[in-house]
Amino acid sequence: MPTSLAKIGKSFEKDLQGATDEKRLSDIRVKYLGKKGLLTSIRKSFRELSPEERPAAGKELNSVVSKLEKALEEKKSQMELEKGSSVEKGWIDVTLPGKRPPLGRKHPITQTWEEVTRIFMGLGFDVVEGPEVELDYYNFEALNIPKDHPARDMQDTFYVTEEVLLRTHTSPVQIRAMENHPPPISIISPGKVYRCDADITHSPMFHQVEGLKVDKNISLADLKGVLEEFVHQYFGEDTKLRFRPSFFPFTEPSAEVDISCVMCDGMGCRVCGHSGWLEILGSGMVDPEVYRFVGYDPENWTGFAFGMGLERIAMLKYGIDDIRLFFENDHRFLEQF
Ligand SMILES: [Zn+2]
Repeated sequence: MPTSLAKIGKSFEKDLQGATDEKRLSDIRVKYLGKKGLLTSIRKSFRELSPEERPAAGKELNSVVSKLEKALEEKKSQMELEKGSSVEKGWIDVTLPGKRPPLGRKHPITQTWEEVTRIFMGLGFDVVEGPEVELDYYNFEALNIPKDHPARDMQDTFYVTEEVLLRTHTSPVQIRAMENHPPPISIISPGKVYRCDADITHSPMFHQVEGLKVDKNISLADLKGVLEEFVHQYFGEDTKLRFRPSFFPFTEPSAEVDISCVMCDGMGCRVCGHSGWLEILGSGMVDPEVYRFVGYDPENWTGFAFGMGLERIAMLKYGIDDIRLFFENDHRFLEQF
């Protein structure tokens, strides 16, 4: 009995020395310790021993089994160490595929900003930007909204001081642009605006784009033509437009513009309140009062202005029903664009 154990021990050592990879190592484990392995068959042969002989034989066999297991473990960790050290030695397998860095995307509002800008530039408009912290004068007064004018109640304003505020619309850029540029002028101005308002369709900070065109003989037909072209390029050729009379202090006449519902094609649905129309922007002919503030001669020049929310048109185009999704920075949302 001990002789055969010793023999097995010797052949195990020889096998172990010859093992060069983990596959061979696992073969050795099966050969000696597996269900039909050499040591297992010795254990089975114990049935032939007398009850007095069995405990000693069992003890000896167990110690051999654990010695073999330990040797196998050591050989395995030695192999892993050698594998690791090849990297430490400074060589790597350059044919292995590399790790791809995660690619970012442009924010949907940035994409909308760029698309809108591109369309209006194609229609001959220049892009002008203005300050977000603005004087009361540019945000209200020069736009024909004096203090105590009821139109100020339409916008919940963040005031910094009595005369300084966060702009509530991009319209002050019109005034700044006209002050610095004699007519004719043709600009759009995208940017951030601020209002004290927050729910699923309002955010305290959002984006608008303002448009202004002043030239000889500009009429409502020119406004309609420009907006129609924009809507067709942004929402699609089949989108219809509707002008509804409205009121803004800085335009006369003023019109709100609706488009045929992009969700139901004008058939009527929940999004359009079953009317088939969606309001997208405010517009009108520049009020001659405004020209007085910037030194343009209203006898010689006429023009139109319009303003729309970038979130609003992006929500309609992509079917987004909560404005807050734009600002929560949830990757699962942003990755869809
Ligand atoms: Zn609809």
